[in-house]
Amino acid sequence: MKSVLITGAAGFLGSHLCDRFINEGYRVIGMDNLITGDLKNIEHLFAHESFSFYNHDVSSFIHVPGKLDYILHFASPASPIDYLKIPIQTLKVSSLGTHNLLGLARVKKARILVASTSEVYGNPLEHPQTEEYWGNVNPVGPRGVYDEAKRFQEAMTIAYNRIHNLETRIVRIFNTYGPRMRLNDGRVLPAFIGQALRGEDITIFGDGSQTRSFCFMDDLIEGIYRLLLSDYSLPMNIGNPDEISIKDFAEEIIKLTGTNQKVVFKDLPEGDPEKRRPDISKAKEVLGWEPKVQRSEGLKITYDYFKQLSEEELRKNEHKNFDAYFR
Ligand code: UDP
Repeated sequence: MKSVLITGAAGFLGSHLCDRFINEGYRVIGMDNLITGDLKNIEHLFAHESFSFYNHDVSSFIHVPGKLDYILHFASPASPIDYLKIPIQTLKVSSLGTHNLLGLARVKKARILVASTSEVYGNPLEHPQTEEYWGNVNPVGPRGVYDEAKRFQEAMTIAYNRIHNLETRIVRIFNTYGPRMRLNDGRVLPAFIGQALRGEDITIFGDGSQTRSFCFMDDLIEGIYRLLLSDYSLPMNIGNPDEISIKDFAEEIIKLTGTNQKVVFKDLPEGDPEKRRPDISKAKEVLGWEPKVQRSEGLKITYDYFKQLSEEELRKNEHKNFDAYFR
């Protein structure tokens, strides 16, 4: 039986990865310090004999007994509001945390896949973004703590590959959505759906002309699974190239939810990228992968998930001290 360590196991993507590897017959060791993750995302796995869990911060020395075949590093705050709230933890988890996990991978002779991000491209001057583009990042802007930590993570990972012959994989994840996102993490999709469910106005930041390209999580998980099992060690974009402006996206959510609320425009947060769309030629060629789920289908599944949350979860205000961000 193959063993995999998944960090960020109680988070949105980490928990779906745990499910996938359990279903594929792996022994899964989940790790999370629960700063932004939530045990309810993996509660159903605790009864499974192949699943175990460590409540641990990967920024500190990591010990896992027994053999490990694979490590997937998915621990990190991942929404702009989260990394504004906890910038130092954000920097540490992708730098010190990555270093610890690379060391663990060496000792265990395990293959490691690290979760990178389209944020390494910053506010991109090339469009769509290929893996060869180096990015346009402000290290001291509000997103710098995330972007630079992820850029450092990539540099560190490739150095272990080159110096220690470690088997490494780097996935650059573009905006992804689906069940188990936090309703109040500040990201645009849960923000809009949460506002519709609570009967609040829909808040568009800036004029809404900025674009994003949203990938449904099932597609993303499949891409990551294939990348891990491939022999490709350079960074690989995984995302859905179906690009939409935030204004049009708001219209889609309004139609989907049937809300009567109006759209209100707020200031664009500093450093908010104007456009973002992955070039996925490499994933198509190397992994034979491309996204299959249309936005209309994925949004419906996600909306159904948010609809069944409790009133308490719906009303939870995670960022009441961060109103400046939502001016
Ligand atoms: N956004 C918005 N209203 C909101 C939340 C976000 O208009 O209530 C915008 C945000 O300014 C950004 C886009 O939606 O341009 C996507 O934001 P998100 O935080 O989801 O992630 P990002 O792709 O910016 O990292």
